[in-house]
Amino acid sequence: RAHLDAMAATRSLNAFVVETPEIALARADEADARRVRGEALGPMDGVPVAIKDLFCTEGVATTASSKILDGFVPPYESTVSANLKAAGAVMLGKTSMDEFAMGSANITAATGPVRNPWGPEGDAFLVPGGSSGGSAAAVAARSAIAATGSDTGGSIRQPAAYCGLVGLKPTYGRCSRWGMIAFASSLDQAGPITRTVEDAAIMLGTMAGHDPKDSTSADIAVPDFRAAVNRGVKGLKIGIPKEYRVDGMPAEIEKLWADGVAMLKAAGAEIVDISLPHTKYALATYYIVAPAEASSNLARYDGVRYGHRTKANVSSLAEMYEKTRAEGFGREVKRRIMIGTYVLSAGYYDAYYLKAQQVRTRIAADFAAAFDQVDAILAPTAPSAAFRFGEKMDDPVQMYLTDVFTVPASLAGLPAISVPGGIGESGLPLGLQVIGRSFDEETVLAVGRAIE
Ligand code: GLN
Repeated sequence: RAHLDAMAATRSLNAFVVETPEIALARADEADARRVRGEALGPMDGVPVAIKDLFCTEGVATTASSKILDGFVPPYESTVSANLKAAGAVMLGKTSMDEFAMGSANITAATGPVRNPWGPEGDAFLVPGGSSGGSAAAVAARSAIAATGSDTGGSIRQPAAYCGLVGLKPTYGRCSRWGMIAFASSLDQAGPITRTVEDAAIMLGTMAGHDPKDSTSADIAVPDFRAAVNRGVKGLKIGIPKEYRVDGMPAEIEKLWADGVAMLKAAGAEIVDISLPHTKYALATYYIVAPAEASSNLARYDGVRYGHRTKANVSSLAEMYEKTRAEGFGREVKRRIMIGTYVLSAGYYDAYYLKAQQVRTRIAADFAAAFDQVDAILAPTAPSAAFRFGEKMDDPVQMYLTDVFTVPASLAGLPAISVPGGIGESGLPLGLQVIGRSFDEETVLAVGRAIE
């Protein structure tokens, strides 16, 4: 009830697209009944969480913040939200996101922008980051204890950084994608947004696991993530990639990174300079691969099977498709569909899509070579703190540049966490990122805990 009150008191943030108080109270009662009966409670029993609107929830409207899914009520539950439910977590509601998870500021939701609780009220508000901005705003505003996010190129880590939270993108395949609305299927991965590293470990332990319904879900045992949190970093080798020292990096980000290095050294880790030579191609590669997959995934929204259908008079099926899609998709989604269709088209496939896939392999190989030398990599999460609503909005490339430090780990499918690294000169929270070996979330969590 306290969390429902907090949710109501912070509605001006616009973090939730659907509130589900009846479900929350019913699940809380169920957890409490288990407690009264003396049953052993799990770590998520009765814990109020928010669910990003990208996860299908049975009987509860799910739109991925897009007008084209207006009125869609899934008849099934995503595996990740079902796992949380089975563990006793209490769903408070569905959180806003950039439309179809395409964005870095949570400004493209059909229900309007989300405000970062750290920023000023009024017109000069700060963005919470994106695309999981609603989840991050809800946790930062203390309405939810934790929230689910999804990360395709940074959408868990970057909003966590902008809102002073922990955000963990697991290894690709660690969490099932079944029932998650697809953006770019070879990159999409679910993960937790929480206040602490320990909470992230607990929540991931519940969300993760093999799922026969997702052929890319890994059949690998889920370790005790919570036990790994306090392992310490003594004797670990931590890599500092020189290519992440980009031109024009603000002084507060340089300082954040140096402070992180100092903390790890003091805790007994060894710092090693490393090189990830293909880093400079990562952003361009991502912005070919992700739109290509999106253009294919979004072909299913045709006005027949889900959500919105045009009410205009049409004289053919093709016209119905065209009008429905023109009305239902926002500008950024249309831009991605056009880029994706272009790079996949017969005349340009070799020059763009195939090339991007080749570079993606090189980027993954860079990481593999680095992990022969080090146990984890430390870098900033984003090149700046949260920015104001209105900034970067007219220039998609400026917006895409906010993802420069998060997309490489996504392209390589590696686990990465963003942890609060303190408050910068701007008075805003900054995030430090730890990237680990494939399926080694345990080291990522232990290093994250050491700098949190
Ligand atoms: N900001 C990136 C994009 O717009 C990443 C989004 C995400 O991870 N879903 O594609």
